[in-house]
Amino acid sequence: MVAEPASANGSSAHRPSSVIVVGGGLVGLSSAWRLGLRGHDVQLIDAGNRPGHPNGSQAALGVLMARVFHRSSGRNWRLRQQSLELWGQWRQELASRGLPIPWRQGLLLLAASSADLERQQLLSADPRRQTLGLELWDQSRLEALSPELPSGALGGLHSPDDGQIDPGKALEAIARDSARLGITALSDSAVALEPVGEGWRVLLESGGHSEAAWVVLAGGVGLRGLLASLGRELAMEPVLGQALELERVDAGAAHTPAWNWPGVINWQGANLIPRPDLAGGHHFWLGATLEPGQAADAAALSALRSLNGSAPGWLRQAQERRRWQGLRPRPVGRAAPVLEAIAPGVLLASGHYRNGVLLAPATAAWVLEQIESGRTDAQEPAEQPLG
Ligand SMILES: Cc1cc2nc3c(=O)[nH]c(=O)nc-3n(C[C@H](O)[C@H](O)[C@H](O)COP(=O)(O)OP(=O)(O)OC[C@H]3O[C@@H](n4cnc5c(N)ncnc54)[C@H](O)[C@@H]3O)c2cc1C
Repeated sequence: MVAEPASANGSSAHRPSSVIVVGGGLVGLSSAWRLGLRGHDVQLIDAGNRPGHPNGSQAALGVLMARVFHRSSGRNWRLRQQSLELWGQWRQELASRGLPIPWRQGLLLLAASSADLERQQLLSADPRRQTLGLELWDQSRLEALSPELPSGALGGLHSPDDGQIDPGKALEAIARDSARLGITALSDSAVALEPVGEGWRVLLESGGHSEAAWVVLAGGVGLRGLLASLGRELAMEPVLGQALELERVDAGAAHTPAWNWPGVINWQGANLIPRPDLAGGHHFWLGATLEPGQAADAAALSALRSLNGSAPGWLRQAQERRRWQGLRPRPVGRAAPVLEAIAPGVLLASGHYRNGVLLAPATAAWVLEQIESGRTDAQEPAEQPLG
């Protein structure tokens, strides 16, 4: 596993490098921040929320699903476990600087079929998960939860360590700590890369340019042009996700019984996230759809809203307060995420698909490790290199 250097909490780097990070979503921003904490000279370039460059991190639900991942070995398992642990450390670190990130602890994965139940039994019996506190919940335990769960749940697997962070608040906290370190985002689009001396020149849409020894490409779905300027190609399919913020109105706002769910509820891939911190205390998030392409489909949102017909009454009655959408970068023909040194001094950290919030810390640790070790070869993963 790639470990974040033990001293990545504020001490200076051995040999500071100059680094340009392209992309200010959670992946790029986190990488810039960790590099800045180590004393590297970092410049962040971010095109912002423009058509063609939508920022998926601002749309995300922030569910961190590591302990109940369906595999228990391999790169993705390791990255998830490392990330969950680092998120715990990062939250503490940021809170100690007056920048707390709200955290909802716990996740209950519901079983909708006997095949789901079997899978959950296997996960809870997995020797690698024995210390993780996973617990199988039977139907009587689910029935004691309030508000009522989707109809048809046969059982569930509870994970006390997984949970949810608010991605907007995480972006804000990390951006503020980055600003304290002198890292600010240059609002521009990077259009091409060319080698210069010992490093790289990044050409900007505005006509200017920036130079550094290292470039980190963390632009989600927006990297095609930059890669083409290096003669590289990475097929990345955008997968749109829609999500809703709803408010319970079932018992009248003042008398609505409190939530006693043990965290986020995941039902057939949809997440239900109580947000007692939002106005009135009865709000929750519901998401997200999986729609290949960039156009939002009303039918997909309506299927999510009704949980494909299994939404309980209180959920059907809930009032919509906000809806939003975003794009996830999904690498085509290879595993997510794509972490690869694609040229000496150029790191690609993209294609996080459905788990960019979860995997931002492990990605930042990988970036830091590559730069501090001066490595230019692909270490993680040892999979198909780019064409
Ligand atoms: C509805 C929804 C729900 C989700 N829920 C979860 C969840 O619960 N948990 C989870 O872990 N993940 C979740 N995700 C996935 C997660 O949002 C993505 O994996 C993550 O946002 C990827 O982060 P990123 O930093 O790579 O890309 P982004 O957040 O998309 O950021 C990329 C940034 O780079 C900029 N950029 C791109 N190209 C250029 C360029 N050439 N020059 C300058 N800037 C550029 C863009 O403007 C953008 O600001 C969800 C996604 C969606 C849409």
